[in-house]
Amino acid sequence: MSRRKTRIVYCGKVKIGGNAPISIQSMTKTDTRDAAATISQIKEIEKAGCDIIRVAVPDEIAAKAIVKIKKGIKIPLVADIHFNYKLALLAIDAGADKIRINPGNIGEEWKVKEILSAAKSAKIPIRIGLNAGSIEKYAGKKRHETAPVIAAKLVAKAAEYVRFFEKNNFYQTVISLKASDTMTTVEAYRKMAKLCDYPFHLGVTEAGTAITGTVKSSVGLGIMLNEGLGDTLRVSLAAEPTEEVKVGREILKALGLRKNESDLVVCPTCGRCEVDIFGMAKKVEDEMLKLKKPLKIAVMGCVVNGPGEAAEADLGLAGGKKAGLIFKNGKIIKKVPEKHLLREFIKELKKTGQVKNV
Ligand code: SF4
Repeated sequence: MSRRKTRIVYCGKVKIGGNAPISIQSMTKTDTRDAAATISQIKEIEKAGCDIIRVAVPDEIAAKAIVKIKKGIKIPLVADIHFNYKLALLAIDAGADKIRINPGNIGEEWKVKEILSAAKSAKIPIRIGLNAGSIEKYAGKKRHETAPVIAAKLVAKAAEYVRFFEKNNFYQTVISLKASDTMTTVEAYRKMAKLCDYPFHLGVTEAGTAITGTVKSSVGLGIMLNEGLGDTLRVSLAAEPTEEVKVGREILKALGLRKNESDLVVCPTCGRCEVDIFGMAKKVEDEMLKLKKPLKIAVMGCVVNGPGEAAEADLGLAGGKKAGLIFKNGKIIKKVPEKHLLREFIKELKKTGQVKNV
């Protein structure tokens, strides 16, 4: 798979496009006006491995809260603006690292120009973020149109905005063309890729709950990434933002697009399993976020497939009757009673992978 060649755009310290690693984004679900709650959520999202965070900016108080929020977080912040160009100006003033707008709902051209000029002075990029669900008014979308028709309308509008940005000498642009229908989204990005070299922010919007959203996003993003499209992504889920980050990371890992990441193999369990694999796997997964060194870990229910998977892993656990075996580099290093199994395994995990100060 060869990656689409794009320009490079910087969102704070994160490079988007070119040969930069595909970055993972998420969006807070707190009220942005509540800076303390928003900072606390972003810290959790940072720990989960998010590269860029977006916050909704529905009013002036939210825009001004960005000053405080930025002081409490480490990753770059994107301000999500709709309807009111003044909020974009305030967010830029407050230190946003990038602005997301849909130029179609900002209003007159001079208002969009004001945003372009402020972003240019602040040296920050803008994402043209179009969603199929909101193009009725300004792109003539009708009910029940087919995926290619909706995709063509999204692309035509995005191309028009790109031309407008360029006419105003603005080139620090990222593009997203999201629809809640997976194949409409894929079709739109494929078409847009033929028209420009701006980096793409991938996503299937309003994808659904943790399960439906994960499936839709994995299929949609998987197809596009496998075709070399996409420079940054967000998995939209009706779930905690940390889950969005985890799903995004797993999609990239499954496609071999995130190197040097730890990998966790967990058996689905069956009637042979006599230990709490789900509970242990969850705790191990959380601990793995703190590893300094990427490790392959196997958490298995019994000795049927446990030793085989553990042999492939750096560290493995196989449950048994009221006890479990811990494997290191394919060899059994300990037999531990079930009640101490997780504790001993995590101790070994920390020793093998070292642990970051988080
Ligand atoms: S490893 Fe054991 S418990 Fe897990 S699915 Fe296979 S047979 Fe079942």
